[in-house]
Amino acid sequence: FDAGTKRILETNPAFRRILGYTAEELERMTTVYDLVPDDPRSIDHNVERTLEQGHVLVGERQYRRKDGSSVELEVSGSVICYRGREVVCAVVRDITERKRAEEALRESEERFRTIFEQTAVGISIADPNRRLLETNPAYQEMVGYSEEELYGKPIAEFSHPDDVPVDTELNNELLADNLDRYQREKRYIRKDGESVWVRPTISVVRDAEDEPQFLIGVVENITERKRVENALKESEQRFRQLFEQSVEALIVHDEEGKIVDCNEETCRSLGYTREELLAMSVRDIATGLLSEEEKREREKRGGTLWQRIAAGEPDTPAVVHFGEHKCKDGTTFPIEVRVGGVDYSGKRMILASVRDITKRKTLEEQLAHRAFHDSLTDLPNRHLFMDRLRHALARADRRAGKVAVLFVDLDNFKLVNDSLGHEAGDRLLVAVAERLRGCLRPGDTAARLGGDEFTILLEGVDIRDATQVASRIAEALRAPFDLEERQIFTSASIGIVLNTTNQDEPGNLLRNADLALYQAKGSGKAGYAIFDPGMSTHALKHLELGNDLRQALERDEFKVYYQPKVLLDTGKIIGVEALVRWEHPERGLLLPSDFVPIAEETGLILHLGQRVLEKACRQARAWQEQCPGGPPRLMCVNLSARQFQHPDLARDIARVLRETGLDPCSLCLEITESAVMKDVQSTITTLQELKGLSVKFAIDDFGTGYSSLSYLKRFPVGFLKIDRSFIDGLEKDPEDTVLVSGIITLAHTLGMRVIAEGVETAEQLARLREMECDIAQGNYFSEPVSGRPATTFLVNDLRW
Ligand code: C2E
Ligand code: MG
Ligand code: MG
Repeated sequence: FDAGTKRILETNPAFRRILGYTAEELERMTTVYDLVPDDPRSIDHNVERTLEQGHVLVGERQYRRKDGSSVELEVSGSVICYRGREVVCAVVRDITERKRAEEALRESEERFRTIFEQTAVGISIADPNRRLLETNPAYQEMVGYSEEELYGKPIAEFSHPDDVPVDTELNNELLADNLDRYQREKRYIRKDGESVWVRPTISVVRDAEDEPQFLIGVVENITERKRVENALKESEQRFRQLFEQSVEALIVHDEEGKIVDCNEETCRSLGYTREELLAMSVRDIATGLLSEEEKREREKRGGTLWQRIAAGEPDTPAVVHFGEHKCKDGTTFPIEVRVGGVDYSGKRMILASVRDITKRKTLEEQLAHRAFHDSLTDLPNRHLFMDRLRHALARADRRAGKVAVLFVDLDNFKLVNDSLGHEAGDRLLVAVAERLRGCLRPGDTAARLGGDEFTILLEGVDIRDATQVASRIAEALRAPFDLEERQIFTSASIGIVLNTTNQDEPGNLLRNADLALYQAKGSGKAGYAIFDPGMSTHALKHLELGNDLRQALERDEFKVYYQPKVLLDTGKIIGVEALVRWEHPERGLLLPSDFVPIAEETGLILHLGQRVLEKACRQARAWQEQCPGGPPRLMCVNLSARQFQHPDLARDIARVLRETGLDPCSLCLEITESAVMKDVQSTITTLQELKGLSVKFAIDDFGTGYSSLSYLKRFPVGFLKIDRSFIDGLEKDPEDTVLVSGIITLAHTLGMRVIAEGVETAEQLARLREMECDIAQGNYFSEPVSGRPATTFLVNDLRW
C-alpha cells in the first residue's frame, strides 16, 4: 500500500483468502485502515517507524474479514520502492490457530493446577530416583507430612518395609521402559506411625532424548475399602465356618427354590455331591412342607414368606415347618425346617436349616404305642379301649347292630400267681391274650385293663352274637396252658353288656359289664352273664362315696404327705411333691387311687385340690421360715385335669399364694401328660396365664398319654416327669431303657429338666445317672411322709 495515502495497491491470493475479499474489492478500498477498524492509528505509527529505521518490523494484530469476523495476523512490514514511489510491503501470516493453542495450554495448566490442589487423590511428582519434587495437599494429608518435609524425601522412606522390594523392582521396569505405567496396592507409614493402604498409579515422563525425567504418581487412599474388605472377609469366613460345622443341613436358596449354597451336612444326609445340589431346587429334595391351605392361611396373615424376606425385615422370624427330605437313593426321612431371610452375595435369599427328626419321630411312635398298649401282652390298654369304645358308640347305628362290651376275668389267676410266681403269672397272661385274639374277627378289639382283667369290644352285633363270642372265649380258655413243664387249667367269667342308645357313656358301659361279670362269678365260675339294669347299684354307690368325701372335707380328714425329689448332681433335695392322703377314721390311710377318681367325677376334686394347695403352700412357707437363707426348694402340687381346665384356676392360685405368703417361684404345678394334651391350644393359653404368676410347671406321668413331641416345645414347662412304669422297666425291658434315654435326650434338647418317678433301687438310680437324668424321686429315697418327718429329712439334708 502507499506509504503516504495508505491505499492498497496490490495483494496476493493468499492475502485475499485470509481476509475473504476479492482483488477488486481491496483495490476499491480507500485505505488499509479499513482492514483494522479497531486500531487504525497504529498503522501510521508502524509505518513511520519502518520508514525511520528502514528495516522489517514484526507485530501481531487483529484484522477484520469481509464477513465481519476478526482474525489474528502476524505482520511484518518493510518499505520498498515500487514503481517509483515508497510503498509498504506487508507480509501477513494467520496466527489464529497458534493463539488458540496457546490459550488452551494456559487454560489446561490452570485446570491442572486446580485439580492438583483440590483433588482428593494424592498426586506426586518425583525424580527418577523416587525423590519427591512436588506433592499436592491430598498427598500431604495422606502421609501426614508437610509439603516442605516431603520435598526431596525418597518415597521408600515412608513406605512399608515389606512393600519396598516390589516398589524398587517395578520402578526399574518403568525406567527401563519395559512398562508404561504400573498400579499396585501398598502401605505408607504416616508421620504419626499409622499405616495407610494406598493404590498408586505410577507413570514416567521422558524428555526429548527419551531419558526419564519425572515419575508421576496418582495415589488413592484405600484404607477404608481395605478395612471393609477385611471385615467382610472375616465375617464371611466366620459364616462359612459355622455353615460347614453345623450339624444341621443348611441350604441357601432363592425365591424360586434354586439352591445356591449348601453345607457338608446337606450333602452327607442326602447323598448328593455339592455340584449336584447346586443344580437342583429345594423342591427336588423336600416334600410335604406346606399344604396349599397352610400357604394360603399364611399369606392371609402376613404376606408370603418370601415377601417378608425380600422386604428385608431385620429379623424375619424363623418359620418352622415339618416335612420330608428325599435322598439320592430314594429313601426319605422326616425333617423340621426353619427358614428365614439372609443376605447372600448381595442378594436376598432364604436360609433353611434342616434338622433330621427321625429319632424324635421314632420315639414318638414308640411312646404312642406304649401309651395305648399293655406292655406285657401288647394288647390295647384301657386308654385305647375306651377310645375305640367311644368311637364305636358314636357311629353305632341301630340297623347295623349294637356295640357289645365283654368283661373277661380269669377265675384262678391269683392262685397261679401266688403259687407259681409272678413270672408264670405273666406268661399265662400272655398266652391268654393270644387265645383271645384268636377268638375275634378282624374289626373287634381285645384289651387288657390290668391284672387279669381283659375286655372285648364287638361292633355291629346283637345279643346272640355277643353270647356266641362269650362262649367261644370261655371254651378257648378252658383248654390247658403249657407253661414250661407244667400244664395249667384255668377258666374265665365273662360279663356282657350291649349299648341301648348311642348316647351311652363308655365308662358306664364298662362298669355295667363289670357288674355283669360279678353276677357271672356269683352264679358259679366259668360262665357269662348279661347285664340287666337291675344290677346297677353303681349310681347309688357313687352318691354314698360323694357324701363321704364331702364329710371328710368338712372334718379335715385329708392330709398332705411329702416325698423328696433329689438332684442327682449333688444328692441334695431340690423339692418335695405334695401327695394327698385320706386318714379315714375307720378304713385307715387311703391312697389317692381310692378316692381321687370319685372326687373327679363328683367335681369335689376342685375343693379337695384347693385344700391340698393351701396346705402345701403353707407348709412350704413354714419350712422356709424355719431355715432362713436355706436353699430354694420347690413345692410340687398335683393338679387334676378338672382343676387345670377350670376358668378360675389362675385366680385361685394367686389367692392361695397371697394368703400363704409363698413366693410363686417356689411353687411347681404337676399336670399329667394326658391332661396337657387334651386340648393343646387351651393348654398353651392356661400355661401362659399361670406363667404370668411365675409358678413353674412339670408334665407328670410322661409317656402314658399320647404326646406329639413337637408340641412339647410350645409349652412353657420346665420339668418332665417320666412315668414310674418306664423306670420300673429299666432293669427288665431293654426297650424301656432305650425309651427312657430317648426321653431324657429329647427333654434336654427342649430345655427341660427330667425327673424320674418311682425310683426304687440303687440299680435304677445308677442307670438314670448314666443317662444324665437330672432329678429322681421314689421310695428309694423316701416314701411319702407327713409334715413332721418331712421336716426332719429336709433339716438333715441341710446338715449333710
Ligand atoms: P403322681 O403325681 O405320679 O405321684 C407319684 C405317685 O407314685 C405317688 O402315688 C407316690 O406315692 C408313688 N410313688 C412314689 N415313689 C414310688 C416308688 O418308689 N414306688 C412306687 N410303687 N410308687 C411310688 P400316690 O400318692 O398314691 O398318688 C397317686 C396319684 O394320685 C399321683 O400320681 C397323682 O396323680 C394323684 N394325686 C396325689 N395327690 C394328689 C392331689 O393332691 N391332687 C390331685 N389332683 N391328684 C393327686
Ligand atoms: Mg405328681
Ligand atoms: Mg407321676
